[in-house]
Order: sequence, then structure tokens, then C-alpha cells
Amino acid sequence: MPPCNNFSTLPPVSPRRRELRLARAGSLRYHFRPLVAPPARSPVFVVSGTQDRFGEFRLDVCPPEFLEGVGMIEVQGVSKSYGITKALDQVSFSVDRNRVLGFLGPNGAGKSTAMKIITTYLSPDEGTVKIEGQDVTADPLAARRRIGYLPEAAPLYDDMRVRDYLEFVAQARGLTGDDLSRRLDWVHDRTHVRSVLYKKVNELSKGYRQRVGLAQALVHNPDVLILDEPTSGLDPRQIIGIRNLIRELAETKTVIFSSHILAEISAVTDRIVIINGGKIVADGHAEDLRGSAMRENRYRVQFSQDGAAAADALRAIAGVSSVVADPEIANTWLVRSPLATDLRRPVNELARSHGWDLLELAPQRPTLEEAFIELTAGRAH
Ligand code: ADP
Repeated sequence: MPPCNNFSTLPPVSPRRRELRLARAGSLRYHFRPLVAPPARSPVFVVSGTQDRFGEFRLDVCPPEFLEGVGMIEVQGVSKSYGITKALDQVSFSVDRNRVLGFLGPNGAGKSTAMKIITTYLSPDEGTVKIEGQDVTADPLAARRRIGYLPEAAPLYDDMRVRDYLEFVAQARGLTGDDLSRRLDWVHDRTHVRSVLYKKVNELSKGYRQRVGLAQALVHNPDVLILDEPTSGLDPRQIIGIRNLIRELAETKTVIFSSHILAEISAVTDRIVIINGGKIVADGHAEDLRGSAMRENRYRVQFSQDGAAAADALRAIAGVSSVVADPEIANTWLVRSPLATDLRRPVNELARSHGWDLLELAPQRPTLEEAFIELTAGRAH
């Protein structure tokens, strides 16, 4: 059971059959609208349910923001083909609540297809996507209410003024009255579109189009945000603006955003899923990815002794596959060996036996860029 750090107990209720079933299951992952008015004004999780002798239920509930470690988005074994092109092949990953996941891969890797499936715009051939435990294909409309989606080409109506367009989207999402004006105010401010509210969409720069795209994704206050290449085509200032906004939004929302540019992803989050040729090739924090891309050992070695003798002696160590001099620092070499061969002890012994001072013996890990290139090598479309 994921821990909840703010329980409340609903007064005895006679819930409808569905809630009864969930309560009996002590269901955690099921998200449902409140059974009764206070204290459950917002969606809650049933953490446990007990039936009293009169058949009424007492429900311990937990508001989502107090649940810890719950998978918000779970993608399990998803495959999708377009004709003979297998765009996704058994893709699985999950994102915890209020975390940002960077979805990285070269063009054609399958990022957009995965996002379209998560947001229910496409159905998978195989596999499931769950938002807080609920299969999105079981009730796509309910899923869409919880998701804000910025597709790669934002779905904007060129002839509309920005203000009217956002109002239209908000109404289509069921907002009315005070809620409508409050949310519109909020998105105008947060996405910085106030200065263009009376412009037509087709008069906007690429940066503003993208912000309006974000505004439409946020207007119904979704708790999941799926952003497909949100910074593509923007200038550096605009990119920084969008990055900051994503970071801010992630305080209260679960975000997946995609990019084919590593720097974009690593500027916002260090949780990265790398996809290539429709398959997940890496999933983890930046540091783990660097480790998983290691295909050989590399060491920087610096002796006090100068000259080629050291290089030859290094080459003579069993298991050394190459020795290359560092062109910038004297008496320094980059020495490689297969992963199974640890060179630290033999290099130490070499130094001792020749009476050289070993000034540096540092294992080198691939940079994040090298890891990305290694993990996506040869399979880009
Ligand atoms: P990414 O978003 O990583 O660039 P996509 O999901 O758009 O990748 O594409 C994955 C693969 O599926 C590519 O080979 C692409 O050409 C193909 N593809 C995407 N959409 C379609 C489509 N509607 N019809 C046919 N092939 C498609």
C-alpha cells in the first residue's frame, strides 16, 4: 500500500456499487469522484474501507497529493505498427506523480506515437496505458479530462483570436462561469500570452504559437501533461521560458516531454527514457545512462616520466586494447581495455616497477552525449 501522509475518514455512506467494490478491494489506484460532499471535495483515493454492522461503509481516503510513490502513468508492453512500420515495440515505462520524464530519441524513434497512445488519440495494437491505475482505453474521455496534450503541431485555429480560441477550448472542456474565467486568467498569465490575446493565431510567431499550444493544454487544469517537442523551433530565450514553465508546472503535475535533443531534456530533468527504433533502449537517471552505455573501460593515466617508453609499457599490459596520447597534457594517455579487464592494479604495478610517479589514474565514464550516441547507434530512421 503506498503511504499516505494525510488520511481522512469519510462519514458513513452507502456508496454506489462501483465505489463499494473499490472500497472492498482497499483499492489504492482507483480514482473516483467524491461519494459525498466534504471532506472529499476533490478526487480521492480509497485507502481502506470497513463495513459497519448496518452495512454502511466508512472510507479512509487520501487526497492524491498526499500519496507517495504512486505510479501516475504506467505504460506496459505497448506496440504499434503503421502498415509494415513497427513504430513501437513492447514499450514499457512508468512515471511517478509530480515527476518530469524526458522522452528522448532521434527523429522517427516512436516518441510521438507513444504520446498519441498515452493521450488516447491512437489505440495500441498491444499493451496498456494506465493513468493512476485506470486503463485509458476503458474510458478515453475520462482520461482526456486528466491529460493536457501539446502535440508536435499544436492544434490551433488560425482565424481565431487567441483569447477566443482559448475560451473556445475551455468551454469545449466543460468549463463555465467563474471557473472558466479563473482558469483563463491563470493560463493567460502563466503561459505569458496576455500581450497577444487580441491577435489572430495566424499572426503569431512560432514562440507565441507554442505558448498558446501550451495554454490550450493547461486550460482544464489537468494533472498529467504530455508535451511533444515543446521547444522545437523556438529561439534560445523562448526555450528558456518554456523550460522554466515546465519546471514550475511539475510541482503539481506529472509531465512527459519529448525531444530529439539531449541538452533539452537534461536541462529540465534527469529522469530520461531513451527510445530508438520503437524500443526503449535506456531508462533511468542521467548518471545511470552514462554507466549503461559503457562498452569498455577507459582510464586517463599520467606518469611523471616523459617519453614514449611509458606508452609502450602500457601497451604491453595484458588486456590493454589501445593507448592514445592526450595531445594537450604531457605524459598523459587514454588507455582502453575490455569491460572485464580492470587496469588499475597493473598500471600501479607498472609505475612502481619503473619507479615512475603515477600522477593520475582516473576511470573515465562516457559523457551523456556519448551515452546517447552509443545507445541509439545505427538504428536511427
Ligand atoms: P518520433 O516522434 O520519435 O519522431 P514517430 O512516432 O513520429 O517518431 O514515428 C515513428 C515511426 O512511425 C517512423 O518510422 C514514422 O515514419 C512512422 N510513422 C509515424 N506516423 C505514421 C503514420 N501516420 N503512418 C505511417 N507511418 C508513420
